[in-house]
Amino acid sequence: MPSEETQVIVGASLAGAKAAETLRAEGFSGRVVLVGAESERPYERPPLTKGYLLGKEERSGAYVHEEGWYADNDVELLLGVAAVGIDRSAHEVRLADGRRLGYDKLLLTTGASPRRLATPGADLTGVHYVRTMGDGMALQEALRPGDKRVVVVGAGWIGLEAAAAAREYGNEVTVVEPDPTPLYRHLGPELGESFADLHRRHGVEFVLGEGVSEVRGSGRLSGVVTTGDRELPADLVIVGIGVVPNTGLAEAAGLEVDNGIVVDSSLRTSDPDVYAAGDVANFQHPLLGRRIRVEHWSNALDGGPVAARAMLGQDVVYDRIPYFFTDQYELGMEAAGVPEPGEYDEVVYRGDVSSGEYIAFWLSGGRVVAGMNVNVWDVTDDIQALIRSARPVEVARLTDPKVALSDIAPS
Ligand code: NAP
Repeated sequence: MPSEETQVIVGASLAGAKAAETLRAEGFSGRVVLVGAESERPYERPPLTKGYLLGKEERSGAYVHEEGWYADNDVELLLGVAAVGIDRSAHEVRLADGRRLGYDKLLLTTGASPRRLATPGADLTGVHYVRTMGDGMALQEALRPGDKRVVVVGAGWIGLEAAAAAREYGNEVTVVEPDPTPLYRHLGPELGESFADLHRRHGVEFVLGEGVSEVRGSGRLSGVVTTGDRELPADLVIVGIGVVPNTGLAEAAGLEVDNGIVVDSSLRTSDPDVYAAGDVANFQHPLLGRRIRVEHWSNALDGGPVAARAMLGQDVVYDRIPYFFTDQYELGMEAAGVPEPGEYDEVVYRGDVSSGEYIAFWLSGGRVVAGMNVNVWDVTDDIQALIRSARPVEVARLTDPKVALSDIAPS
């Protein structure tokens, strides 16, 4: 007999779509409703600052499922309508158009929103953010002629990937970043500097140690003023200064929120009928022994299915090692683990950073806590095994390219 239960997922994102897919794959036969504020069906974001932005991938390649998949799998896709409230005692979600959706279990995959630049002129035409497919399309169109002076604000993942795309089209690019190197908090100074070198070799200028105090122009922007009083002429500004998790719905519903929606290692909130996954979920990581919130594609891909299984009452634990990747010019990189400042005491290298082909390992007390392979492939499983093992390693062997990583990593 088909189930009479209803599972509602708020957030038609990668995490939400993967959760819906998993509910069906696990045999759930009740109602599945996926609600999204955007009018696009769920899509993946990496192409928006990589292949799609460069015009090398079709927009259609970004969608999580074919258009017909939702109907074929009896997943009700409600697009272009935001959820505006949750009544937990009535087990109902309120939608912006006045509808109410009853749920047995509710999953929040509401994601995150770009942090906005809060300087005078920040709302001038020509200031771009990259979060939605619409943002990616607008930016691609603006960069494609290749004749612009572009200022990128923030040398994080969006800033660097967008800077690479802007250069590949032939635009002039200056990146402004308050930290001493790009990716300073993500990777630390040495590796941050290696990314600066890569971009400099491709003609990008950096203004480091300074922020932006003003965006100038009348109607359309004409330039950017830095906190060091430099005036940078600009036709286009790309802002990538981080994101803020979309916790408003959860908070208004009285769920615990602290840098994201607080969930346990099964992605369940303090309300046993409400779950959260993706960028918005601050979860207890069983291996790391602390809470983390992960803003990467793979966390949506892997977390959505775990939440779905937990919603079905399965005994699951979300213990994936965070994984992410980037492509910038000729550099391809994958990383595993989270090298938080203060949580490692040493970075060691297998291969020479200046050669552009190497693996960096972050060590804490001789144990590998994170690893990043640059233009070296098929090592992710070994790096993850080293992190999982939490056992001290012999640094001389770890850094010796003649010793196979698989001989060091426990099977
Ligand atoms: P991000 O990677 O966190 O980087 C933001 C950068 O902007 C940081 O270097 C930050 O410095 C700097 N910053 C903060 N405030 C600033 C200001 N007022 N002026 C200038 N710089 C400022 O965030 P993002 O690049 O905006 O990306 C957004 C999200 O998308 C992130 O969660 C990111 O992980 C994700 N994403 C991931 C990938 C990937 O995995 N390849 C690609 C694209 C996007 P501080 O660190 O000192 O604050």
